[in-house]
Amino acid sequence: MKQTPHVALLPSPGMGHLIPLVEFAKQLVRHHPFSATFIIPTIGPLSSAQTSVLKSLSEPISHLFLPPITFDDHHHLDPVTQIALTMTRSLPSIRDVFESLIATTNLVAFVVDPLGTDAFDVAKQFCIPSYLLSTSPAMTLSWCFLFPKIQDEMDRIQMACDKYIDLLEPVQIPGCVPVRVTDLMVHPARDGHSEIYKWILHHCRRFSLADGIILNSFVDLEPGPIKALQGNEPGNPPVYPIGPIVGAGSSSSLERPECLKWLDNQPRGSVLFVSFGSGGTLSNDQLNELALGLEMSGQRFLWVVKIPDDRSANASYLSVQDQDDAIGFLPKGFMERTKERALFIFSWAPQVEVLSHSSTGGFVTHCGWNSILESVVNGVPLIAWPLFAEQKMNAVMLSEGLKVALRPNMNQNGIVGREEIAGTVKALMEGDEGKMLRNRMLELKEAALKALSKDGSSTKSLSELAHKWKSNSYIKMNTKYM
Ligand code: UDP
Repeated sequence: MKQTPHVALLPSPGMGHLIPLVEFAKQLVRHHPFSATFIIPTIGPLSSAQTSVLKSLSEPISHLFLPPITFDDHHHLDPVTQIALTMTRSLPSIRDVFESLIATTNLVAFVVDPLGTDAFDVAKQFCIPSYLLSTSPAMTLSWCFLFPKIQDEMDRIQMACDKYIDLLEPVQIPGCVPVRVTDLMVHPARDGHSEIYKWILHHCRRFSLADGIILNSFVDLEPGPIKALQGNEPGNPPVYPIGPIVGAGSSSSLERPECLKWLDNQPRGSVLFVSFGSGGTLSNDQLNELALGLEMSGQRFLWVVKIPDDRSANASYLSVQDQDDAIGFLPKGFMERTKERALFIFSWAPQVEVLSHSSTGGFVTHCGWNSILESVVNGVPLIAWPLFAEQKMNAVMLSEGLKVALRPNMNQNGIVGREEIAGTVKALMEGDEGKMLRNRMLELKEAALKALSKDGSSTKSLSELAHKWKSNSYIKMNTKYM
């Protein structure tokens, strides 16, 4: 058996979970003498984006795939439910992998993302400490500890959930800006009967079973919630803020993607990047308004266009594929009219490289946490356009707390109209307000660099964690497990 301390990581399906776990593992082995195995649950065939992330792994990080989980009824299941069921149905094969890792490595820790907490039970059987890597900000983590308490109180007093939730308005998450109930990740009156609500509640209840929580954030970005989380709330695991950990980009100079070559030819800070993450999807009407609003703004833009879907905003979360057919959904003549100042991507974009390019001056984002951190480390100000999961809470933090984003208003039909879009884009790219947001983002960029420097808060936090894991080495030797 090898003596190097070994960590097993279990990312739930979806790029937004895989990427931060991969980047965390790379950071760990870069700075500390560890090896790691990724245990990859699968639903269907891997996308090319997933394949290229996994291909970026090399010694001492390896990966293996679990037998695929199939759903007869997957068309009727939302992505969160599919992910959650994949994780629970994979538990027997995760147990098999543990047996093999225990026999062949010096396994000292197990890391999952927020939808993988059921696998804590497997690690417990083998006496391996379990850690949660929070793929969202400290604010969401803090909400996740509060949410089951709110639910229990509602159940206890048996008050109608809409009435009870009215009493909370706006919700005070410890250390955070107040959040309107409608901006919460889920709320009982709106989502109480949905499968998503049940799964999120289920996993939030299990967060406190972790031996520790690894937070992809840093103290200067979220001082309030991190302080609150690190307070002595009984039952909460220790929190390690080790971020911002983001990818470095992987395009080789030989095969420089077209969009980067295009950016090379644009003026400094002049391009607005528009992308809604790995699976964010707009409705047909919204896609139309966004196109016309971008056109009206007169600004340069680089847009990752996805096929619209009127049913749900995370429709393509589990099926990241090239979307050439999206061209047919854009307004007639729009691409021709904007061709001198716009470029369109219908596939997986090299987002990290786009955001670090000097021509990129703003980002319309769905407020996924990875996208936000990638903007912070590159000092790019934002237009916050949240779609699903905790993204509305992130938008509140960005626009009302950190003041690094503008948040366009929706009309009564739940659509952001073209004039609103054009006005917001101009304000970000040309206006005084945009300048203030940009300066504030540059301050955060400096703070991020400091957190990751040799004596920075995040570097120290990672070292503390690595030290703790190294000292766990003895645990499994001669330990009897079920
Ligand atoms: N991403 C990318 N190219 C794309 C879309 C997304 O590289 O075309 C990356 C992005 O840089 C980020 C991740 O995928 O690292 C998306 O994570 P995020 O938390 O922002 O949102 P999610 O996709 O989970 O909703």
